[in-house]
Amino acid sequence: MNDCLFCKIIKKEIPSEIVFQDDSVTVFKDINPLAPVHLLIIPNKHIISVREVEPGDEEILGKLFSAARNTAEELGINDSGYRLIINNGPDANQEIFHLHMHFLGGDKMKHPMG
Ligand code: AMP
Ligand code: ZN
Repeated sequence: MNDCLFCKIIKKEIPSEIVFQDDSVTVFKDINPLAPVHLLIIPNKHIISVREVEPGDEEILGKLFSAARNTAEELGINDSGYRLIINNGPDANQEIFHLHMHFLGGDKMKHPMG
């Protein structure tokens, strides 16, 4: 997608702090961190949201979780824990229409369901 911000980040057409990238997945720092650690884990394939996930995307989506696991391991926060969030559509306030998993950690968080 030519006009997608996250596709541009993947292609390094705009600057970002990428902490991991391979052929399938990119992990980079959220520009407006809501926790001491706030990363975004995205598929390199342009998928708008969970609604647009297609048969055949299972492998790449699994790799988002592998990237989350590896990130937690590298940051040393496996034991303290972290939160993964995927916002989908208006009610969840999805702002960027390229599927992304928020990785939040580094401090005790309130429970999201109250
Ligand atoms: P969401 O509301 O789930 O769509 O989250 C979008 C996230 O993208 C927000 O947390 C933003 O802070 C983040 N964001 C927007 N633009 C950038 C950027 N250029 N680099 C890194 N993160 C960004
Ligand atoms: Zn995109």
